[in-house]
This record gives sequence, structure tokens and C-alpha cells, in this order.
Amino acid sequence: MSATVNTQPPVTRSLLGLSKEDLEQYCVASGGKPYRAKQMLEWLYQHRVGSIAEMTNLPAPVREQLAKEFHINDLHHVETKGADDTTRKFLFRLHDGRYVETVFIPASKGLNGRQSSRKTICVSSQVGCAYGCKFCASGLAGFTRNLSAAEIVGQMLAVEKETGESINNIVFMGMGEPLANLKNLIKALEIITSHWGLNIGARSVTVSTSGLAPQIKELAEFPVPIRLAISLHGATDEVRDLIMPVNTKWPIKDLFNSLHHWRLRKKQKISLEYILIQGVNDDLDQASILAKRAKGINAKVNLIPYNTVDGLDWKRPTEEVCYAFRDVIADAGINTTLRLEKGHDINAACGQLRLKKETAEGIIEAPIKAGR
Ligand code: SF4
Repeated sequence: MSATVNTQPPVTRSLLGLSKEDLEQYCVASGGKPYRAKQMLEWLYQHRVGSIAEMTNLPAPVREQLAKEFHINDLHHVETKGADDTTRKFLFRLHDGRYVETVFIPASKGLNGRQSSRKTICVSSQVGCAYGCKFCASGLAGFTRNLSAAEIVGQMLAVEKETGESINNIVFMGMGEPLANLKNLIKALEIITSHWGLNIGARSVTVSTSGLAPQIKELAEFPVPIRLAISLHGATDEVRDLIMPVNTKWPIKDLFNSLHHWRLRKKQKISLEYILIQGVNDDLDQASILAKRAKGINAKVNLIPYNTVDGLDWKRPTEEVCYAFRDVIADAGINTTLRLEKGHDINAACGQLRLKKETAEGIIEAPIKAGR
């Protein structure tokens, strides 16, 4: 272990992890007025100030007291990959010397040639990941810790600061399994979707999971219509077991039971994500079964040809195979997309930049190869 990792908690807490109710309680408990909470939230999320000293409509003693206990953002920008007008990956250092990655995807032209107004960030929910999906760099060095709600929300503010863009779409598809960090995820979702917080429309927030069936049912109770995406990658247990170790704990039957439950609670379509891997899950029989499963829960299917990951041996199928797979699903009447563009530079699996940085600093051992 390197000396750069600090296991002590930070001296002050981040304000970004607190809800309106939390801040009101703090104000009252510290002898102040509850309406100060609204003023603090306006400084944080409307004016996006970088320090408590800039909250100028708070009386000086309130600011002084607040600064003794809190700071604003825990994330320190370290590195950016990618050019200004393209997808960019940001590496941030956390208070304990660990690193987290966030990806910004700018507005682009859609299939109809029209410019989309969507500015997306792909946020991380954990440092590392315990779920070990076989195509993913994040799982290579195992799980380190959960991100706090403040560290999740802080990614959005930090990326807006670096890019100068206003983000209006959030996907939880970065490093980590969000549903394994459910308490902090739900807190962050409250701050992200509330009018007093980041005020992002719930339909513009997607949580992606490897398939933690019980937590999917719990998240279904979150009273805001967020979207759900499932990393499926195999239409039968036999094939999914090869790619998603989580499938041995919650096999496809359990997973789809939880998705039926979700459908009863939420109107939004579920997305089934399916990475096409040559000779592993690209057989047309898998396509037929996938189409039936998608129909059963009225889901859409996103097909993503595999991108090479350092240290992993799998290959991308030919375009011909990808199109044939897509056609089987589309012919069954399922809304399907096939994303053929490659992301070998920075779009590749989340976790690679952090792995390189922590490995270089000796914080973690060199990643081991898949198939271990
Ligand atoms: S895909 Fe997600 S859940 Fe699976 S190992 Fe990577 S970060 Fe973890």
C-alpha cells in the first residue's frame, strides 16, 4: 500500500451530500433559522459557488461556523482524456487519495441528423467494484469502497466546472455497482432530481445495474420516475454465467421477477444492455431468446459490440454478425439500437484510467487478467 492513501475521514464534511431536510435540521440544531438551508442550497446548486465564503447573503458568523464543519466538493481534478468537442473522461482524486472516473458525452447529431441537446455524464458509484463482470476494467482490481452521496453529486459539479457545460442527462454506468451502494445512491438521486438540488428531470436519470434483484425491488420504491438499465449480456443462465458472475447469485428468473415488479411501479421502459462478444453470446439463438425476454417486460434492447479492454482477451464480432443479431430482435417488434462506433481510446470500459493511476502510484497491485 502506498502512503498516498489516507484512511482518515476528512476534517470537514461536504455540503453536497446533504438534503434540504438535513440542512434545515443542521441550521436549527446549530441555533439558526431553517430558511438558511434554502439560501445555502441556492448558492450550491444555482450559483455553483466553490467556497462557503462566497455565500454572501449568509451572516458572517453563520458562514464562519459552516466553514468550520463543512466544505463544498471533495473531488480534485487530476486528468482529462479526450478533445474538447468529443467525449471526455475525467479523473478525480478523492479525499483519501483514491481516484474516480467520470465521463462527459457532449450533444451530438442523432440518426435523423438533428443536433441533440443532451449533455450526459456517466457517473461512478464506487471505487472499484466487487461484481467482476468479465468485460469490465472496473472489476479487475476488486472493490475498494462506496462513494458517498456527496462524491456522487460532486462528479456532476466538477465536470460542469471543467467543461463549462450544463449537464442535463445522468447515467449511472461508470465505475461500481450503484445498487450495491443503495443508501448513498438514493440520497444522491434525491439531490440530483429535486428542484432545490440539481433539478435534473427524473426521465433524464438512468441507473444501470448488473442485476441485483432484491435491490431493484427496493429502488422501485424511490418515488421519482427514474429509468433503469440492466447489464444483461446473456439471454440464458448458461451464457450469462460466463460473463456476469452476479448471475450465479440472482439468475435470470430472479432478475426478471424483479423487473416485472419494477414495471408494476414505474411507467418508463427498462433498457436491456447487451454487449456482443464474438463466440461467447453472439449466437442467433441468444438473439431469439433475448427478444422474447424483452417482449415479456416491454423493454428496449441496446446492443453494444465489445470494445477491447487492456488485460481482457475477448473480441468484437464482425459488423455482419452484429446486424444479423440486431435484425432478429428488431423483427420481433422490439425497439433496438446497435451502437457500432468504437470507443477504444477513452470510451472503453470505465475504470481503466483509475486502474492505471492507482497502479502507477502503487495504491493497488497490477490488475490481473480476466479468466482468472
Ligand atoms: S460492469 Fe459495473 S457491475 Fe460489472 S464489474 Fe464493471 S462496474 Fe462492476
